[in-house]
Amino acid sequence: MLHGCKHRNMEGFFTKKQTKSKSRPGGKVLSCASCGLYKGCTSAKMEPFGNFKKGILNIGEAPGEIEDSRGKQWQGKTGRLLKRAYDKLGIDLFEDCLNINAVNCRPPDNRTPTPYEIDCCRAVIVRKVIEEYQPKVIVLFGNAALQSFLGDRWEGDMGGITKWRGWKIPDQDFKCWVVPVFHPSYVLRESEPHVDITWKGDLETAISAASEPWPRTPAPSIEYLEDLSLLAKYQPSIGEMAFDYETTGLKPHMEGHQIVCGAITITPERTFAFMMPKTRKGMRPFTDLLQDERIMKMAHNMKYEDTWSIEKLRTEVRNWGWDSMLAAHVLDNRKYITGLKFQTYINFGIVDYASEVTPYLKGKGKSGNAINSVIAFIAKPGGQKKLLEYCALDSYYQFLLAKKQMDIMQYDFLPF
Ligand code: URA
Repeated sequence: MLHGCKHRNMEGFFTKKQTKSKSRPGGKVLSCASCGLYKGCTSAKMEPFGNFKKGILNIGEAPGEIEDSRGKQWQGKTGRLLKRAYDKLGIDLFEDCLNINAVNCRPPDNRTPTPYEIDCCRAVIVRKVIEEYQPKVIVLFGNAALQSFLGDRWEGDMGGITKWRGWKIPDQDFKCWVVPVFHPSYVLRESEPHVDITWKGDLETAISAASEPWPRTPAPSIEYLEDLSLLAKYQPSIGEMAFDYETTGLKPHMEGHQIVCGAITITPERTFAFMMPKTRKGMRPFTDLLQDERIMKMAHNMKYEDTWSIEKLRTEVRNWGWDSMLAAHVLDNRKYITGLKFQTYINFGIVDYASEVTPYLKGKGKSGNAINSVIAFIAKPGGQKKLLEYCALDSYYQFLLAKKQMDIMQYDFLPF
């Protein structure tokens, strides 16, 4: 028997921003009524289709003409291409998977669904299906599916499928693997052989995830230090540390800039966060760690921490061993993928741990010397704790990322 999913009234299921306003900036509520696509198609609000035996949920773009007339997903030429590719991997598209689309009513003339239609269908159908079926793997076919799954959770510009395809993401919100891949209609259109090869390789990645346990990413344990003397106690036992600063801008050279706070991760279980002491004496337990040649240092974009340490702490960092941003680029040289937030999501499934703080870290204008608003942020009630927590999370994810990269690359330091 094929699973069906009755259309339910899902009003009330909104994103963070939408719970505040319950409406879009244009004033429209996210619902089938406001979307309106259902009025113009034969199989409105198409039900999920497939026996879901292997726990794989495929999210496509939208039903086409044949799908609309038959009331089932993947019935046309693109569907046949996908079916054949899955067959070769030992997966039956309709027996082993469940199939839905980012938009579940056919857009007129098979046009691409609009962002608003995607938002409506996410709120009314897509999220509900994911929560109800709890898939082991979600395969996102193309930009619309990517937008549907992540668009309301990702802060800032997400970029497109080329940047996202092929990652096997252990999503911590939905507790399943997520693998974005090209849409099969793109594979049909493109004559370059590498597109087809890449797509099939990515499908293989997705299928392999169905038989792998989904890994939980543990939350860090953060110790907030009032003074840094505890670090001196730990120093002899520290063999390596990732560290991170929050600062008043990008470049330290201009008068008035400061390192506001720092965080160190020395093991997955131990992260320290602290406001940067104003005196040399106060900061010494920390600068002693930086100068300790025995302790291997890791950072995400080490030239940042290196420059600020020299300029503001008058301290040379000794024994740099790993730059997780550089390693991310060595592992995959696509554009726009080396940022820590992106790497944290694709590797550890944590999405958006920073959106409250990041606006305050951006300086006004284009100058790298600009002063940001982080001092105003810490003056707000609870602001200092939030900044420290954010800094600690950065340091913790850098540590986890560096360790994972070392495993993959089989190095325990980057040979600069
Ligand atoms: N058929 C579907 O069901 N979805 C698509 O995205 C394309 C074809």
